[in-house]
Amino acid sequence: SLQGKTAVITGSNSGIGLGIAHEMARAGASVVINSFTDRDEDHDLAKSIAQEHGVDVRYIQADMSKGDEARALIEKAGACDILINNAGIQHVAPIDEFPIAKWDAIIAINLNSAFHTTAAALPMMRKAGWGRVVNIASAHGLTASPYKSAYIAAKHGIVGMTKAVALETAEEPITANAICPGYVLTPLVEAQIPDTMKEYGMDRETVIREVMLKRQPSKEFATVAQMGGTAVFLCSDAAAQITGTTISVDGGWTAL
Ligand code: NAD
Repeated sequence: SLQGKTAVITGSNSGIGLGIAHEMARAGASVVINSFTDRDEDHDLAKSIAQEHGVDVRYIQADMSKGDEARALIEKAGACDILINNAGIQHVAPIDEFPIAKWDAIIAINLNSAFHTTAAALPMMRKAGWGRVVNIASAHGLTASPYKSAYIAAKHGIVGMTKAVALETAEEPITANAICPGYVLTPLVEAQIPDTMKEYGMDRETVIREVMLKRQPSKEFATVAQMGGTAVFLCSDAAAQITGTTISVDGGWTAL
């Protein structure tokens, strides 16, 4: 059980982060969920997870594109035994047409925020004498596809940073690992479908079957609950010697 532990999950009012929040809460952890918005529905979401699982859940607003806000998220959480760096955005365009602002935002949110949160959380983990860093990378942290240069650069970057953090904490009861999901049907993936349809001149069903799940031999989307279950496993005693590595949850994508 993760009772007594606090899990901070960046970018978690939707998709994989929200799925991980549910599984952390189910395992008994106190949870901090986050996004850049500050709406009633964000705080209501925290309440509903708390009610469902009988644990403490707070929503803390912080924009992961800003380093000082990423650090402030950890400070405001007050405790961070489990850090899940999940916030991420995507943009699909050929590199010579890639909007500079999109490149910068993807690197800031998908990579730099994890640097800032990890830097802020490690001293807390050391003080607590236990810690888990779980970075949500991607199959695109290990392989590439056209038109996703910024995302792929950020995801390869976070896989590399995960290894460095693991080595820096190797002799401590702290681990750092990356989960590499294949395609999970979340709002992020949903939003890519129109651009990919345009890019390839295909209809929706063909994009799903021929482009997205083409690389996923199982021909099934992975689920947010499976990402949550994998994150909970990485927090278990069984995973205490798993550090500095990646766990693919990708239906065989990276075996191809
Ligand atoms: P999503 O769009 O459903 O969720 C992204 C979350 O990040 C949302 O909660 C959003 O509010 C938050 N977010 C966005 N910008 C933010 C910012 N500036 N500050 C704080 N929060 C911000 O997408 P998802 O598919 O759940 O993606 C979650 C993570 O999983 C991402 O890092 C993504 O790259 C990774 N991933 C997703 C898939 C997939 O198939 N869905 C595959 C591999 C990796």
